[in-house]
Amino acid sequence: MNMRLWKVYSAAGAGIIAGYLALPPGLARDGAYLLMGLAGVVAILLGVRLNRPVRAAPWRLMAVGQSTWFAGDAVYCWYDHVLHRSPFPSLADGLYLAAYPLFATALAMLIRGRRPGRDREGLIDASIFTIGLALLSWVFLMRPTLDDSGASLAAQVIGIAYPLGDVLLVALLIRLLTTPGARTSAFRLLAAAAGALLVADTAYAALEITAAYTEGPVDLLWLGSYVLWGAAALHPSMRVLSEPAADRVVVFSRGRLVALCVASLVSPAVQALEAWRGMRLDVWAVVVSSASLFLLVILRMAGLLTRLQSQAGVLADLARTDSLTGLANRRTTEAELQRALAAAAADGGVVSLAMLDLDHFKAFNDTFGHQAGDGLLKQASTAWGARLPEGALLGRYGGEEFVLVLRGEAAVDPVRTVETLRPATPLGQTFSAGVAVWDRGEDACRLVARADVALYAAKRGGRDRVVEAEPDAVLAPAAR
Ligand code: GH3
Ligand code: MG
Ligand code: MG
Repeated sequence: MNMRLWKVYSAAGAGIIAGYLALPPGLARDGAYLLMGLAGVVAILLGVRLNRPVRAAPWRLMAVGQSTWFAGDAVYCWYDHVLHRSPFPSLADGLYLAAYPLFATALAMLIRGRRPGRDREGLIDASIFTIGLALLSWVFLMRPTLDDSGASLAAQVIGIAYPLGDVLLVALLIRLLTTPGARTSAFRLLAAAAGALLVADTAYAALEITAAYTEGPVDLLWLGSYVLWGAAALHPSMRVLSEPAADRVVVFSRGRLVALCVASLVSPAVQALEAWRGMRLDVWAVVVSSASLFLLVILRMAGLLTRLQSQAGVLADLARTDSLTGLANRRTTEAELQRALAAAAADGGVVSLAMLDLDHFKAFNDTFGHQAGDGLLKQASTAWGARLPEGALLGRYGGEEFVLVLRGEAAVDPVRTVETLRPATPLGQTFSAGVAVWDRGEDACRLVARADVALYAAKRGGRDRVVEAEPDAVLAPAAR
């Protein structure tokens, strides 16, 4: 039912817009215009009633905004057709202008719903776009209005209030478009409604300044905006327009980068254009906007850099540690061993290496399950880690094998050091270990290989023991 109503309303709206210019100018045309404005109000209120949005307040505000527009149009018609004059500024302008803060508040409420919590980066991006557009609006719409010496002060103030209202709406439209969340039909219709209004206002202001405005195409855009606003409210997908997306990741797209770049270049482009065309230079507007843009771009960059650095830190930690036990992983252990050997070579210190391997771990897994096996690996890592001497590094080499790098005092008698870990092994389990004292001339590879040979000797000897490697152990060809 709701969908059918939406289709009927949209089709009727499109039909009236298509035939609008065929109507004779005057009362018939203005009557149709008024009717469309009223239909927009009714459509929004009906949409709220039928679709029951999660948040109704923003939609109700839009209905009020649309009503003030309708009232503005009605007052204008009255001036035109009853009093036969078109004063500016007038009550109609007051009513039109009142709609801007209402629409802006409604959009802000929708944005807040779609993007709860802080969003510094989104705010900075929207500010950059808005400053770029605001400068264009100032140079091409607001300043010519202020420069018009024939206009009264009231006419000047009201004259620039429209583009100011548009800048406010454009800022919120950009924020809305950059929120994560579903791009539903209602979302697109609402964005199109605000977009059509902004284009119509801008075109009207520009045509007014160049005295080229005649009734027609711009009115179609305003009418289009009325219809789109109502269509957005009638579409069933409006129900969740104010809700956050399940997947809230915002990617920094190439499109956004290009748009930010263009917005940042507006200032110098405006200055260049003014100089080239021999126009009066808007020095202060350009100074203020480019200084704000620089600061915002730097703020944005600082945010990105901070995020990058913290992500790099997280990644480096992930790359360094073993995910199950939290110990140093094999890569880190090997690097630390190289470092310890280099330091010992330089300062004459002692380094020892132990290879530890849990006994009958496969049987433990088979009996208690792999999760219990994982638990044993974690508990053993913690228990051994708590008994390590100063400067020792315990790493997981792979599976149930661990490497212990000892330095200084603890490295002098590595068998004794490793013996202190044996009673700490949890859940009644045991390990075998092979230890080797670095003999200064050998490389890390040979040191590990000697400890490994000693580990196999410990296994062969009956397990649950520590065996010290021979300094001149015979190694397999690959390990020599
Ligand atoms: P030995 O006393 O000779 O060392 O015998 P073992 O059973 O401890 O050694 P073996 O090499 O036969 O088996 C090691 C087992 O460790 C096999 C593998 O499934 C298990 N394993 C390796 N990595 C993990 C792990 O991360 N979690 C668990 N639960 N088991 C693992
Ligand atoms: Mg093993
Ligand atoms: Mg084992």
